[in-house]
Amino acid sequence: MPVNSEIKSFSWGHDRRFNAYSNYFRRIYGARVQKVSIDAGFGCPNRDGSKGFGGCTYCNNDAFNPSYCQPARSVSEQIGEGIKFHKWRYDEAVSYLAYFQAYSNTYAPLETLKKLYEEALRYPGVVGLIIGTRPDCIDDEKLEYLKELTSRCYVAIEYGIESCYNKTLVRINRGHSFEDAVSALEKTEALGITAGAHFIFGLPGETREEMLNQVDIISGLSIRTVKFHQLQIIKGTGMEIEFKNNPVDFELFTWEEYLDFFVAFLERLNPAIVVERFTGEAPPRFLTGEGWGKKRTDQIVNLIEKRLEELNTWQGKLYEDKRQK
Ligand code: SF4
Repeated sequence: MPVNSEIKSFSWGHDRRFNAYSNYFRRIYGARVQKVSIDAGFGCPNRDGSKGFGGCTYCNNDAFNPSYCQPARSVSEQIGEGIKFHKWRYDEAVSYLAYFQAYSNTYAPLETLKKLYEEALRYPGVVGLIIGTRPDCIDDEKLEYLKELTSRCYVAIEYGIESCYNKTLVRINRGHSFEDAVSALEKTEALGITAGAHFIFGLPGETREEMLNQVDIISGLSIRTVKFHQLQIIKGTGMEIEFKNNPVDFELFTWEEYLDFFVAFLERLNPAIVVERFTGEAPPRFLTGEGWGKKRTDQIVNLIEKRLEELNTWQGKLYEDKRQK
């Protein structure tokens, strides 16, 4: 923790004013590590009826899947394409993390999961797995297997949690409770597997104050990494209809409002949590309305960092560890 602005390093070991994901991997591997997304053709229990039908009301996976992810291609082919894509943009990356991203990537029998994960790990340069899934889509057997894998590579499970409020989870048809999420995170952490979480700000029925107050709950969760997105209303989703019928129930952020909100949120966030994302950016063709126009994610990150600098503040400046009290 810095005592004044002259001190060059924060508790996370560098001088950026938040505990940044890219620096976290530099610390582990000593170099840039690039995530390569994979759509391995998994389904989702919230779509096929085993948990619910229709899926979460905001969900359209196509809006977030990179173009090189095609489930018709093998895991190895997708990794190869992804590496080519990223080499063009970032020459520096020498190691890769296979990111099982689309839908629920633990929603299959263990033997199927093993086959897909092991195929990814055999690809030259792949040093670990990141597995995106739902909190109710993991069990002790799968966790035990992933624990074994941690002895030979980096393994992280990223859970979609989206909100700490059950009233919101019901409203967006998540099909699981916040308590389910806490339980999955605790089991994951207890086995020494890296746990991450994903949240959305701006979900219907939540006030700005409620969104902000989640920071104290999130700060106490058993997570190592976290991603945040502002809500974007995606075409063709249930939420698009809900938004058209009842726009007053949505507190969507302008990018200027989001800067203020996010800086206030970061100041209260546990500094031990690594922040991977501040915002999301669906391609404009998927968006209802204007979104944030031409403001790109990297610009918002720069603006947030600039604001932190101007205010001489940082992640966790106002954090209180309520678990100690
Ligand atoms: S957001 Fe995830 S859990 Fe929800 S419907 Fe989409 S794939 Fe399923």
